[in-house]
Amino acid sequence: MPELPEVETTLRGIYPHIHNQRITDVVVRERQLRWPIPHNLKQKLLKQTVIQLTRRGKYLLASVDTGTVIIHLGMSGSLRAITQPMPVQKHEHVDIVFSNNIILRYKDPRRFGAILWTMTDPNQHPLIKTLGIEPLKNHFSGRYLWQAAQGRRVPIKTFIMDNKIVTGIGNIYATETLFLAGIHPMLPANLVTLERLQELVRVIKRILHQAIKLGGTTLKDFVDSNGKPGYFANKLNVYGRAGLPCVQCRLPLRAMRICQRTTTYCESCQQ
Ligand SMILES: [Zn+2]
Repeated sequence: MPELPEVETTLRGIYPHIHNQRITDVVVRERQLRWPIPHNLKQKLLKQTVIQLTRRGKYLLASVDTGTVIIHLGMSGSLRAITQPMPVQKHEHVDIVFSNNIILRYKDPRRFGAILWTMTDPNQHPLIKTLGIEPLKNHFSGRYLWQAAQGRRVPIKTFIMDNKIVTGIGNIYATETLFLAGIHPMLPANLVTLERLQELVRVIKRILHQAIKLGGTTLKDFVDSNGKPGYFANKLNVYGRAGLPCVQCRLPLRAMRICQRTTTYCESCQQ
């Protein structure tokens, strides 16, 4: 599943190709994503120029003069800037064509993603409005998490994956960062000390930055080839390694379900 670093890497990969470029065509081959792509999308976008591309959580916001396209990659989506004509392949549902001949091609085999349109402030859109703070911004701090955790007895893993608290931390990064911070994923959020939350926030920022940087080294993958999510370049310490020895203490890693998500952890290194 594309996580925050993959979305950020996608943004950095495609932005230079489409910034200030005029849209000359919109081809929708499959309208049924998580929500239907609006019928008037082409009409809204034709002859418009992309003036800004930003990210909020795992949403990409492409702004033109008259409104904003809200894009989510869902479980399996990717967005690539194609510089030379390439035959359309299976699951490539949407093309946005620009005056510089760049094609922004959206692929989504499982169709859990979204392409929506809003003419008002995208930050007030129902999908965006409830999102918590950005994990890479300065105001995401140990103290912020500690205050938000008061009275919250949910497992710390569920807590940091809650989009209303902090946005864009998915299963892989929650699993990995809790391991690196030495925090047991089942520990109730309100019982984690301020110091440990400060360490967790440091680890979250470091790992996300690292993943974006590694994604950045494969930026070419977002142009003319299949997008390779940045986290594959990242060394995963615990995620997907249940039963294998812990990289720190060599005891076998354990797995459990927390909030319907598989969680791998080390019983000895995470307390
Ligand atoms: Zn261990």
